[in-house]
Amino acid sequence: MLKYLCPNLFVRKVEDIDLRKLKEKNFDTLLLDLDNTLVGWRSTKFSPAVLEWLKLAHFLGFKMCILSNCIIKNRVKKLSETLGLPSIFKAVKPRKKSFLRALKNLSSFKEKTIVVGDQIFTDIFGGNRLGVYTILVLPLDKREFFTTIIQRTAEKIVLFSLKRKGMLKVSGGLKEKFKGIL
Ligand SMILES: [Mg+2]
Repeated sequence: MLKYLCPNLFVRKVEDIDLRKLKEKNFDTLLLDLDNTLVGWRSTKFSPAVLEWLKLAHFLGFKMCILSNCIIKNRVKKLSETLGLPSIFKAVKPRKKSFLRALKNLSSFKEKTIVVGDQIFTDIFGGNRLGVYTILVLPLDKREFFTTIIQRTAEKIVLFSLKRKGMLKVSGGLKEKFKGIL
């Protein structure tokens, strides 16, 4: 069970994801979570650093899709349109259905796909069940839905277990910050 909750990589923020390295490893598709991964909770503004990172991904030829569990269609649509990316809202991650739909829309294969998100029980669990490469980022914003806050506590327990078992691959930049989380 624990192995399905373990991200392949844990970084502080999307900008810390080395796109060139992933491209060299033949990955060509990014399925990106929206809230707290690319944009702060309830925010409608992307940071320049995130926009720069997405620009690089585009330049390197990554196919991309926003995959959000957010049920507000307009929010997901508007934000992804700002980025010029396709999106799926109400994705019901960790269920496989939306992941598969995104792959089909992009004509992508799971072997070459990376899921990026800030939640273990939706983004990472869903991606691992599907068998794609998974990257966990720290949530951009501390304010969240009450249910998510409860989930965060469970996530900390999972992260602690993963770290103790030596299963967690943490990027250099996160190591210091990581001490504070656990
Ligand atoms: Mg999220």
